[in-house]
This record gives sequence, structure tokens and C-alpha cells, in this order.
Amino acid sequence: MTENDGYVVDAPPLASLPIAGGNERFPIRRVFCVGRNYADHAREMGADPDREPPFFFSKPTDAVFAAIEGAPRADGPRCVAGVVPYPSATNDLQFEIELVVAIGVGGTSIAPGDALAHVWGYGVGVDLTRRDLQAQAKELRRPWDLSKGFDASGPCSALVPASVIGHPDHGSIWLAVNGAERQRGDLSDQIWPVADLVSELSNYVTLGAGDVIFTGTPSGVGTIVRGDAITAGIDGVGDLDFTIR
Ligand code: MN
Repeated sequence: MTENDGYVVDAPPLASLPIAGGNERFPIRRVFCVGRNYADHAREMGADPDREPPFFFSKPTDAVFAAIEGAPRADGPRCVAGVVPYPSATNDLQFEIELVVAIGVGGTSIAPGDALAHVWGYGVGVDLTRRDLQAQAKELRRPWDLSKGFDASGPCSALVPASVIGHPDHGSIWLAVNGAERQRGDLSDQIWPVADLVSELSNYVTLGAGDVIFTGTPSGVGTIVRGDAITAGIDGVGDLDFTIR
């Protein structure tokens, strides 16, 4: 019993993300994702982009694939998630570039006007999706868990504190595959800005420090295959580069 600190098997490691420019890490408690938060992406997925309440789904904490910090680009820190393994059980792996919000102060039923005070910082993430399994799940009215929440399905950059960059509400969000730009939107195009998302989510769960929210993707999502090199970034937040193997 003493070998395992009272647990019957080895306790799993705590998932975490690095902090840009430092040695500390952000511990991950839960990972929430937002569906359809940019009108042009809602349209490309065949949905009505009207401002209906946001909907949420989850990834397991260890889906987050933490970046290591690489050499800086001219315009900011470069984060490299290294090699992301191509998942099993799909023939249509797709990318979705997203602003990632890291919650620092928990709460429930948080008012939109108070919500940003609960945000510790931001990162650049990709919501990798088994699109074929997701389409099948939609068709059969089954849950999305295994189309969204597989191993390494959430590559993410180092986080930057809001105390340093503030709360970004505009600026380019983009992704390129093998150097060819595939997605470009602007944070100001979010149907539900960060404060509204945090507030709405806190009506469903008690948010806690360590919770992470992937805030949805602009249009241009598409398929990637083994060997593809993904470069992505958000103005004022950071960059994320990785390859698929
Ligand atoms: Mn997404």
C-alpha cells in the first residue's frame, strides 16, 4: 500500500501545460470545447449561425498534447507540439484552430461582466477531430466522445497569462498545412466572446482553477494526413507548430 500512496494502482500523472517563457506549468482539471462559435464555420458545417446558446462537449484531460517551446519567430514565442500521432480508427482526421482559455479562479453562475476575472491566461490549440466518426455519430444521434476526445486530440501551445497580454478580443487566428494557409479568421468574429462562454458554461458546471476551454474554430477546416506539417497562430497569444506521424 505504501508504494502507491494508498492507491491500488499507480496514480496517473496530472496533465498540464507549460507557461510561455517560464518553468512553471498550468495543471489541467477538465477540458471543455465549444461547438460552432464562428458564423462562417457554422455555415460550412451546415448549421444556422444565428446566436443560439453555445453548446459544449469535452475531451479527457490527457487529450491535451502539450507543446514544448521552440525557437522564437520574429513576432513572438514559437511553440512546438512536436510529433502528434495519427489516431487509429479514422480516415478523415481534421484540424480546427482555436483560442484556448485557462481558468484560474473557479465559480458558478458567473455574470458575463465578472467572467474575465476568472481567466488566468490563453493559448493556441487545435481541436483534432475524427470527422468521419463525428458525421456517423451525428447521423446516429450518438455522442461525440470518440470523434473528439481521443489521445493527443488537443495539441496546445504554452499558455500566456492575461496579466501579460490582457484578454484578446480581436486579432487574426490562422492555420496552415505544409505552408499553405487553410484557416484565417478574427477573434472578433466569435459569436460568443470569452466572457459569455465562461459565464454560460458556469451555469452548467462549477468551474474550477485548471479548467480549460477550447473556444471554437473559424471556417476552413479540412483533412490532414501522415507527414503533414501544421503551423498555426493567434495574434498576441502565440504560435503552435506540429507534424502528424
Ligand atoms: Mn472545435
